[in-house]
This record gives sequence, C-alpha cells and structure tokens, in this order.
Amino acid sequence: DRIVVRDDLGNRLADSFEIALQLTDGIAVAEFADLKDDEKEPERIVFSSRFACPVSGFTIDEIEPRLFSFNNPFGACPSCDGLGTQYFIDPDLVIPDQGLSIRKGAVAPWSKSTSPYYTQTLDSIAKHYKFSVTVPWSELPKKAQEAVLYGSGDDVITFSYDDGLRSYKNKKPFEGVIPNLNRRWRETDSAWAREEIEKFQDVTDCEACSGFRLKPEALAVKVGDKHVSQVAQLSIKEADAWFANIDKQLTKKQNEIAGRVLKEIRERLHFLNNVGLDYLSLSRNSGTLSGGESQRIRLA
Ligand SMILES: [Zn+2]
Repeated sequence: DRIVVRDDLGNRLADSFEIALQLTDGIAVAEFADLKDDEKEPERIVFSSRFACPVSGFTIDEIEPRLFSFNNPFGACPSCDGLGTQYFIDPDLVIPDQGLSIRKGAVAPWSKSTSPYYTQTLDSIAKHYKFSVTVPWSELPKKAQEAVLYGSGDDVITFSYDDGLRSYKNKKPFEGVIPNLNRRWRETDSAWAREEIEKFQDVTDCEACSGFRLKPEALAVKVGDKHVSQVAQLSIKEADAWFANIDKQLTKKQNEIAGRVLKEIRERLHFLNNVGLDYLSLSRNSGTLSGGESQRIRLA
C-alpha cells in the first residue's frame, strides 16, 4: 500500500498493516517514499507481529514460564534433553598408554578381542600408511595416529583378512576407531556392549547449549545482560549484588511489573547470604548439598 501521512490516517494504516502481516507470516516493512538529503536508499522500518528477528527470521512463541525449565520438554535443550552434558569418546581413554605399540594393545577397545579381525584391520592400515605396529604409539607419525583414531577419509585401504578358513581382501576407506565406537554405541541393542563402549566415554558440556541446559529460544531471553542460566550460575553472593542493582537496567514499566517478584527474590537471597551460604550457586544440584546446607536452604 502507498500512504500519504496525514492526521486522519487512522484505520487505513492499521488495515494495511494487518493485511501485510497476514500475507507475510508476521513481518511488515514500512519504506519512506522520500529520500533525506544524505541517504542513498529510502529509510525502512521493519515491524514484526511475533517475537521474531527480522534479520535471521528466528522466531519464538509466546514466552511462558515452562520455556525456562530444563525439566520441561518445552524448554529443555533438545540435544542433551536438558542435562547440559554430553558424552564423547575420549582419545586418551582409547589410547590409555601411549608407550604401548599397536601390537602390544595400544588401542584399548580393540586389544581384548580374541577375533583376529581387529588385529588384521590395524595391520592393513599400517601397511597402507607404511608405519610399524611394533613401535610405541607415541612414536607413530601424527597422520598414522589420526587415521587409526578418526578414519582414513577418502583414502581407500586394502584390508587383508584371514579367519583361518579362508583369506579375502576388502577395499574401502577406514571408518576410524572412534567413529566406529560412536556408531556401535548408537546402533547396538545390547546393554553389555553399550557399557563396554561407555568405558571409553567422558562427559563434557553439551555443544548445543554450552551446558546451559535450555534451548536457544530460552537463552535468547535476557534480563539486563543475562539469560536465566547465567543468573543461575552466579553464587548467592553475586546474585544478591546483581538483583540489588537490576532495577537500574529496567524501564519504569518493567520495574512496575517486576517489583513484587524482585522483592521476594531479594529477601530470599539476603537470607541465604546471612546464613552463610553465599558461596553456593543457584544451579547447584540439590543432591550435592551437605546436610547442614540443605537445612539452612529449607528455612529460606
Ligand atoms: Zn544441551
């Protein structure tokens, strides 16, 4: 629509906007027809009827309390189900003793098998990359170590197998010990096999949420400069100071809305501080608290 700005514009503008928002799934642009002196392009103002980023198109639904709970599927990070952690195969657990050679069992998950398959697989890789299986792992070229752990990429390797009954060859890229463990961990139906593989896993912060346990939509909502998980990571003492000053970062209207809940939060933080729990963080797992700590928290 093209509109001349006048005092009696009223419904015409509102109607046009409504139609535009319906047609575009919630985003409308107003473009000024006149160029100001120093402008090369007319000024544009973007309006959105949803909680949306006009640049990336990132939208979130109505903000509700359950969005901020990692115990609720609505708020939990989908990658880690709200745990904030993820398991990964740790190369240091796969090669626990770098002084061992491959022949002596350097590749721990493959060293206990009685099947000749794993030995012959490693021998074939050694032959392809021309390294020795009898020197300590630490002395192998970086490229050889990478190929064993993470695979040969596009390099096609000729695998020679002999199971005692027949010998055969197989040409294909090598998957890598670590991708192989990951795949078997995902695919196996056996609890025993899974447990065996978990011996080589270590735990780290979830990649998707950086350990914050909530999905991106929840972490995009900030009060002052922090999202809810960052506030929860503060110690009681730091949180006390942060909440004491947060009203300065809010508008008058926001302060009116937040007033009562801020009062309550501040009172509890003051109390926890006064009973000597200033070192705890709000995100601390309740199972890791001492008896005395739990007692004092229940009083708050
Ligand atoms: Zn996560």
